[in-house]
Amino acid sequence: IEKTVVMDAQAIQRALTRIAHEIVEKNKGTKDLIIVGIRRRGVPLAERLSKIINDIEGVKVPIGILDITLYRDDLSHMSYQPLIQETQISEDITNKTLVLVDDVLYTGRTIRAALDALIDLGRPKKIQLAVLIDRGHRELPIRADYVGKNVPTATREAIEVRLLDTDDCEKVFIGEY
Ligand code: 5GP
Ligand code: MG
Repeated sequence: IEKTVVMDAQAIQRALTRIAHEIVEKNKGTKDLIIVGIRRRGVPLAERLSKIINDIEGVKVPIGILDITLYRDDLSHMSYQPLIQETQISEDITNKTLVLVDDVLYTGRTIRAALDALIDLGRPKKIQLAVLIDRGHRELPIRADYVGKNVPTATREAIEVRLLDTDDCEKVFIGEY
């Protein structure tokens, strides 16, 4: 069921534009930057951030992809374990600044798994995190450096993210199971 629309297409674009500026500002430019999208919807978000940064700075920031699947290990408790499926990063990440990108940050377990996978590949200088939505309910000491919008949710609610790259419309709304 669709409840409240929390971001329309314009709000999403504005948030990404702001985050792109914040990334460039915080890192004093684009040197040694790699943007890493988490499948599925972190990937088009990473591509858009790279494109906006190119518009601002005239530099093409490389993009990588992480594929992390959530495996429910106990259905009765709705707990799950994130499992790394595939990593596609052609650059050497050693001494690079990686910006991980995901659509929704929730317990933090996906990001923890992503950090593990990245650190296996080399020794980045820094890893930062950008998310379109932070819906709260963290179970690990993980926070985002760049947030499109904070949307406090009840556990039974879910954030529905629709992007033109993957869906037939572009908006973020709160759904309920
Ligand atoms: P976490 O590992 O932080 O609990 O959950 C984050 C991962 O699960 C992200 O990759 C995100 O795509 C997905 N996720 C968790 N909660 C939601 C939600 O409410 N809506 C959407 N669209 N994805 C979610
Ligand atoms: Mg996901």
